[in-house]
Amino acid sequence: MSNQFTLTNIGQLVTNDPNLGDGLLGVIRDAAITVNDGVVEWVGQSSQADQSTRTIDVGGRVLIPGFVDSHSHIMFAGDRSEEFAARMAGIPYSAGGIKVTTNATRNASDDELRRVAQSMITEMHEAGTTTVEIKSGYGLDVETEARSLRIASELSEEVTFLGAHVVAPEFANDPDAYVDLVVGKMLDACAPYANWIDVFCDRGAFTEVQTQRILEAGMAKGLKPRVHLNQLVQGNGIRMAVDLDCASADHLTYLTDDDINVLAASDTVAGLVPGCDFSTRSPQYPRGRDLIDAGAVVALSPDCNPGSSFTSNMPFCIALAVREMHMTVDESVYAATMGGAMALRRSDIGHLGIGARADFALLNAPSYIHLAYRPGVPMISTTWKNGNVIYTKGDLA
Ligand SMILES: [Zn+2]
Repeated sequence: MSNQFTLTNIGQLVTNDPNLGDGLLGVIRDAAITVNDGVVEWVGQSSQADQSTRTIDVGGRVLIPGFVDSHSHIMFAGDRSEEFAARMAGIPYSAGGIKVTTNATRNASDDELRRVAQSMITEMHEAGTTTVEIKSGYGLDVETEARSLRIASELSEEVTFLGAHVVAPEFANDPDAYVDLVVGKMLDACAPYANWIDVFCDRGAFTEVQTQRILEAGMAKGLKPRVHLNQLVQGNGIRMAVDLDCASADHLTYLTDDDINVLAASDTVAGLVPGCDFSTRSPQYPRGRDLIDAGAVVALSPDCNPGSSFTSNMPFCIALAVREMHMTVDESVYAATMGGAMALRRSDIGHLGIGARADFALLNAPSYIHLAYRPGVPMISTTWKNGNVIYTKGDLA
């Protein structure tokens, strides 16, 4: 049986290709899309669609590329809701609360870790996300880090070794000895399951010197670098991230004008995670508007993690980007799709041009603007990955 099909009567088709439609998002109105073998075979006007394939009339709704989430921490166990409540009652966020999750994660079975991660991925599918990068970083010992990554590699093709999330509690008095472990035995055990390496470079986590050492060790093992920077304080790591050709530098709540110019002149994507700034009640949000005006590429991600941003919801981040970072709706939708793909150095996802993977989501809305206009309202009808339905509300004709 052929697995070719056509969606017709799409009110707005967001292609992210300005050659195919209007504006930054390449929007085609009254559109159709034909999929064959999990790949986009044709896009254009509904009236010109090939009616000989199996067709589904989507009733004038909006089709967007599936969201690409380039930053998640979903390999964990345990619950930190009380810490959140305490923080909202006035106790400031620091990098230390992670110990609670580390203890629970070390004690969790493989099945428990898999169940938690899978439940987060299911939530993501329900909110239109079709690709998610998954980091380790709650084991902080050789066995649990490797176990986390092995399970993550069953669930995603984008897997990141983050043994350098914070210094493991056993090494609190000798952080450099922990770095030795990370670049030694831990990296050896973890590299086979990962394609990225990441470090949390910030106050209370790792210094720029330690970060560079860890990233370079990972790169020597064939892992590609990405980095957490400038979440808690203004650091000096942007130049290093760019010089190492990190695919993304994430958080960036604190940036100087020089940092913005360095990023704009580089291939390093600015990965902004406004759900984290929201959930930690950060004094400020990243300078999304200034980054885009300078010419930097911005990616948006929920940064799903139990400590500082326990949301998996990309539309919520789009709403925050528009409201708090003064990005336009178009820029925010682009950052959540194409931006994420660029942060993962992927050209087959994040857009719906011919040859792209058939990863997309149908919105129960007349315009993609509703993603920001109706914050907190679930509006995904159906999500496809590789041309297969991975979530449906049951309202697809
Ligand atoms: Zn993170």
